Amino acid sequence: MLMSAMYIVLDSQFDYSVHDMPVLRRWWCLLLLENHSLNSCGKIFAHWTEECKQLIAGKHTPVFRLKRKAEQQDIEETMTQTASDVRRMCMAESMQFCVYQTSDNTGERLLYPEVKLIKWVQCKTCRGWLHLDCAGMEMEPFDCGCEDSIEHPRIKDAVDSGGIHAVFSKTQIKTLHDDLLSGKLRSNRMFLWRNPATSLRLKQHLKIKTLSWSEQRMYELLRFIEEATNIAKKIKTGNIHLLDFVLDVMLPELLIKALKEHGISRFRAELMMACGNVF
Ligand SMILES: [Zn+2]
Ligand SMILES: [Zn+2]
Ligand SMILES: [Zn+2]
Repeated sequence: MLMSAMYIVLDSQFDYSVHDMPVLRRWWCLLLLENHSLNSCGKIFAHWTEECKQLIAGKHTPVFRLKRKAEQQDIEETMTQTASDVRRMCMAESMQFCVYQTSDNTGERLLYPEVKLIKWVQCKTCRGWLHLDCAGMEMEPFDCGCEDSIEHPRIKDAVDSGGIHAVFSKTQIKTLHDDLLSGKLRSNRMFLWRNPATSLRLKQHLKIKTLSWSEQRMYELLRFIEEATNIAKKIKTGNIHLLDFVLDVMLPELLIKALKEHGISRFRAELMMACGNVF
């Protein structure tokens, strides 16, 4: 209906027939899922996800599992506390990037289960909610990046033209390292590094998969991290566990931090890392 109306209004030739309707309907449903709030759960099918590509290829049937939320009973400090807000779900949760990720099976919180007081922020554009830690920034009004309106340079390009120093600084790396160790910065990866048995699957999911850097660049960055944090010394003394820390925690957290400095939320940075379009 809407399609036909649009064609008539635009005075264009009809270039689809009744046989195209199933495809058109599917496309239309995807648009609705992507753009309508549904507490942003629809974003799981947004065009950039693997899931959606599979869905369009017809290899995947969308399944919606609603979770029992242990979190909901917690005392939550919120910006606007209303009855309906208690049902909110973190947008990062469905993509498994939530700092307080819960288990698919039990609905219990896997990460930082002991934390009771969690702040939330709501995106002014899509109205979706994120834990403040998943947003990674306290900004009013907050934009999760759903419009992708924020101009950001590809970090790889910036590094290629200006070198590691153009994007990262030792002070920045040292601060990140200290904040992760002290717990000032809550990170899903840090929690899993300390408690790997919590979920090996989630730990695997959070590893960086697409980094289109040359080996040379990668080596430079790792050396840079080692120097800034003095971790090299400890690794040499046989603490191999720390290698893991550099690769699985420091490296992704550093990329997130670099994007944050361009005004990009942690959640958005996670999505960008997942499809590798900035690195
Ligand atoms: Zn979250
Ligand atoms: Zn948004
Ligand atoms: Zn972008």
